[in-house]
Amino acid sequence: MPIDPKLPYDNDNIFARILRGELPCSKVYEDDHALAFNDIRPQAPVHVLVIPKAPFVSWDDFTAKASDAQIAGFMRAVGEVTRQLELDQPGYRLMVNMGGHGHQEVAHLHVHIFGGRQFFHMIA
Ligand code: 5GP
Repeated sequence: MPIDPKLPYDNDNIFARILRGELPCSKVYEDDHALAFNDIRPQAPVHVLVIPKAPFVSWDDFTAKASDAQIAGFMRAVGEVTRQLELDQPGYRLMVNMGGHGHQEVAHLHVHIFGGRQFFHMIA
């Protein structure tokens, strides 16, 4: 079920629990700003989620409230992951789902990185 992005941050959402080490993940990358791990239900040969290490519900919440340093650090981390996975050739796809129409299911901002196969137009 999609989340309501207007609700306050839920400290017990799945990704908050992964960040606290209470739930396991298959870690791909970590720095001061972000944690990246494999999606539990991959939609492509490479399907990695990158999450900020701070309590932002959504892309909207993040871009409105995060500091410039947090935004820069997080975006840089997404780039680090794609480079470490050597996805630049022949390319990859980034996706952020926001709110109900975006079908965001986990109430902690996450960027999806898809790679390892050809993508065409929009994912339904
Ligand atoms: P959304 O629809 O919110 O953009 O995507 C949520 C993603 O989180 C989905 O692709 C889903 O498979 C993934 N996911 C949900 N629960 C877990 C979990 O416990 N561990 C991991 N690694 N991924 C999860």
